[in-house]
Amino acid sequence: MTDRLRLAVPNKGRLVEPTLRLLHDAGLVFEEHDRSLVAHVQNHELDILFVRTSDVIEFVGDGVADLGITGLDLLAETGAELPRLRDLGYGRCRLAVAVPNDAPFGRVDDLAGHRVATAHPNTARRFFDQRGVAVDVVPISGAVEVAPRLGLAEGIVDLVSTGSTLAMNGLREVGDVLVSEAVLVSNPTADRDRRAELEAIDTMVGAVIAARDRKYVMMNAPADRLPELEDLLPALESPTVIPLAHDGMVAIHSVVGADEVWGLLPRLKAAGASGLLVLPIEKIVP
Ligand code: AMP
Repeated sequence: MTDRLRLAVPNKGRLVEPTLRLLHDAGLVFEEHDRSLVAHVQNHELDILFVRTSDVIEFVGDGVADLGITGLDLLAETGAELPRLRDLGYGRCRLAVAVPNDAPFGRVDDLAGHRVATAHPNTARRFFDQRGVAVDVVPISGAVEVAPRLGLAEGIVDLVSTGSTLAMNGLREVGDVLVSEAVLVSNPTADRDRRAELEAIDTMVGAVIAARDRKYVMMNAPADRLPELEDLLPALESPTVIPLAHDGMVAIHSVVGADEVWGLLPRLKAAGASGLLVLPIEKIVP
């Protein structure tokens, strides 16, 4: 069947584990046989192709796959103009300019006339060109952070998440090039011709992402405290209010930001709520 949709995902590296978790959480049933090239999804007309993170874009661009998951930094680097359906909220990092701690460079512009090593040469060139800073970009494919120590370059442009790798290598940041995270992209033709099918996948994936940072909160309260409690509860639209068997009491259900729960519970309690329950949400389709 050539009709099945194909989704290209990374087979190695740091995006693999969160990507597989997302797809399983979205409800797709498939087995990864040691990440062999293709996994057949049992409950959807979809095949998952496991390829190198950097090859995902080529697979999607060529139409070998209809959809792909990769890093935004790699999309920027290839310059491929693929429709970007959704930012996925993991694989977050920054592409940053860094120099050795003891180097006499305080700002990006101070690197003018020097060499900058990077695995993102196109993005780096674009960045320095736009700022009118003439540097010599030295393309290398890995271990970018050791380039200054090896005498290959005076500065680097590299991916940073916590900054600990830079610190370990005696480097400090002097500027940001771009912010990246994992993204869902599509083939332009598939985006046009198979729109509804792509949207189905995107909706399932989006439902998981939307649910991840929200919680379902339930509580009982005296009905006359409702206005006060409603003020504290944003919910998706408005909170659900259900009368209880006991006269004058209601149950209130609402959806709140996961990071708000901590501050919210004591305030709800103080506003008359009791029997507060906080539950995880699996999926939200707004
Ligand atoms: P890989 O080299 O296969 O592990 O995948 C690298 C991709 O993971 C990058 O292109 C980024 O999109 C993403 N990523 C997220 N955080 C980092 C980080 N701290 N260092 C490198 N890559 C990162």
